[in-house]
Amino acid sequence: MSKNRAQAAKERREEKFLDYYPHLRRLLVECVVCHHKGLRPDAPLPNDKRPIFRYLHSHFAQIALDENGLCEQCGSATKD
Ligand SMILES: [Zn+2]
Repeated sequence: MSKNRAQAAKERREEKFLDYYPHLRRLLVECVVCHHKGLRPDAPLPNDKRPIFRYLHSHFAQIALDENGLCEQCGSATKD
């Protein structure tokens, strides 16, 4: 699977952001197949009004991983 340039640039921005705020990594989950990053469903949002959380919320969508660590898209793709 090849990534297009826009997606690669987006991921570089995400990594830069997380390097700057490493403590926010624990709020994120990553699909084991497509490596899509998203907010944990139980992340302290959206009631936390601190600007950094607002930024995080606008930057990452909430994703729920199944018991195998797959996002919804990959999970449904591997089902029979
Ligand atoms: Zn996935």
